[in-house]
Amino acid sequence: MVDAVSTDPATVVARLRSTFASGRTRPLAWRLAQLGALRALLTEQSEEFLAALRADLGKSAAEAYRGEIGFTVNELDHTVAHLEEWLAPAPAAVPAAFLPADAHVVRDPLGVVLVIAPWNYPLQLALAPLVGALAAGNTAVVKPSELTPATSAAMARLLPRYLDREAVAVVEGAVAETTALLEQRFDHIFYTGNGTVGRIVMAAAARHLTPVTLELGGKSPAVVEPGADLAVTAQRIARGKFQNAGQTCVAPDYVLAIGDTATALEAELATAVGALYGEDPASSPEYGRIVNERHHDRLTALLGDGRVVTGGGHDRAARYLAPTVLADVSPEAPVMQAEIFGPILPILTVPDLDAAIAFINERDKPLALYAFTDSERTKQRLAEETSSGGLVFGLTVSHLAVPELPFGGVGESGMGRYHGKYSIDTFSHTKAVLDKPLG
Ligand code: NAD
Repeated sequence: MVDAVSTDPATVVARLRSTFASGRTRPLAWRLAQLGALRALLTEQSEEFLAALRADLGKSAAEAYRGEIGFTVNELDHTVAHLEEWLAPAPAAVPAAFLPADAHVVRDPLGVVLVIAPWNYPLQLALAPLVGALAAGNTAVVKPSELTPATSAAMARLLPRYLDREAVAVVEGAVAETTALLEQRFDHIFYTGNGTVGRIVMAAAARHLTPVTLELGGKSPAVVEPGADLAVTAQRIARGKFQNAGQTCVAPDYVLAIGDTATALEAELATAVGALYGEDPASSPEYGRIVNERHHDRLTALLGDGRVVTGGGHDRAARYLAPTVLADVSPEAPVMQAEIFGPILPILTVPDLDAAIAFINERDKPLALYAFTDSERTKQRLAEETSSGGLVFGLTVSHLAVPELPFGGVGESGMGRYHGKYSIDTFSHTKAVLDKPLG
């Protein structure tokens, strides 16, 4: 039985490599069949995944559907609808000196892809890259995060029941298993997680000259300008920040309030949190939990900074940390030194847009930059004078769910991009073909 031998990295990779070499993953029909099977897995086994996500992260069914199952189904549907068109050879013009000749660009599958997933959206961030890898005609090893063991086990058990076992393998495990996997030669490594491990992945990939995509994180600011509707702004910041208890790579990490907006915004944020999770978020079925006690300790240590506007309560045994807004936070405070990755939202004040832009540009390039403004001039200045993985006006987090937009970071927030057609670009070689008749 293939799944019985599937945990030894060298054996797994050799098996997938021989499948790839056989050519069976190349036809469009095989790719569409795999994508269809993945869709069936997500819909038929959704109860299993919902239970696993609740056990691992306290995710409500609504949030798990929105951010994990439904998200991945949308990515699948968009890919299936366009795949043939994306894979069609693209004609290229030939200079007169070479004529008669034909030139075109084809999308060549790479071979064996490794997908290393993190714990915060453990299903989406394992399977959305897999959609791209399979759609592009590759075989793939999926390495789920050990910090979400229920979801990892569910994927390890269920993926082989639906997908081609000779082409897709799930390898569970922690650092030792991932290190052993990284010793193998892959044709692409797609890593989502933190920058420290991102560097380990990239160094391991360098030994085999394997290209990498690094989907990392960082501190994504939300800029709020005077004149913006602060009630709407607060609702949209709170929704993006506190979903999954703040453990979202593109969550707004902190607010940069321009001029005198901070005081009114504080009150609106407290109202927005109440509207989302009620008087007592601990008893709200919609509010998630911190992944483990280590992260809980890390987060509660940040609560000493600034003035608590709302929240602050926590319970280690329940891995609960209230949605918390902190005002009057200094840029030197510990909460401003690294990505928060939890339900704590500091508000910092800057005098004007120039200062906001300078603040952003003095720091690592963020994965997302959010801004709430009515001014087209401000939008244009932020677009031209800052660099970030994505730039979103009037919303938070939602750009991820626009399948025609690339998703990825820049600088410390990562390299490479995926989703929709961009996944095909990532998981294929863009091959030049020139054909001149001999006659
Ligand atoms: P994590 O601890 O689950 O690690 C991610 C993966 O790396 C896991 O599969 C883990 O087994 C593996 N890993 C851990 N240590 C390793 C080591 N020493 N060698 C090899 N592999 C190792 O997740 P995390 O890094 O804590 O995730 C949170 C970070 O990920 C945040 O910074 C967040 O912003 C970022 N993130 C980014 C995105 C994105 O799409 N850009 C999405 C989610 C999370």
